Amino acid sequence: MYGTGILKGMALTFRHMFRKPFTVQYPEEKLPLSERYRGIQFNWSKERCTGCDSCAKACPEGCITVATHPGAEGQRIVDRYEIDLRICLYCGLCVEACPFHAIVMGKNYEMANYDVSKLYLDKEFFLTHFEEWM
Ligand code: SF4
Ligand code: SF4
Repeated sequence: MYGTGILKGMALTFRHMFRKPFTVQYPEEKLPLSERYRGIQFNWSKERCTGCDSCAKACPEGCITVATHPGAEGQRIVDRYEIDLRICLYCGLCVEACPFHAIVMGKNYEMANYDVSKLYLDKEFFLTHFEEWM
């Protein structure tokens, strides 16, 4: 019958007019995250990290820089531990590769910033600010 399509379309429109909206007013409102959500790495442990470089080698993007020098007892002293979040995929391979659980993914995904240098996390950042990124 002529016009059936229009009636069906209008019926659908009216149904949706009285439905509760799905829209979330971000950033005032946020959706709950899954327990297994992986966000930005929030913790690097100075005590656990041996500077073995496994995380940097496992990273498909080359985001991690580890620089060490030999200590008095032959151990590696970590001079630099840096992650470049501009290119990080949050794949978690660095965390899986670490044999000492020295690096942990957090749940923070809010990294929009006017200052691109804030997306480059260094050792000092991990030692002083990590709680803000949990
Ligand atoms: S989460 Fe993935 S891309 Fe990001 S630093 Fe780790 S291994 Fe690299
Ligand atoms: S793999 Fe772990 S212990 Fe080795 S350099 Fe990376 S964070 Fe440190």
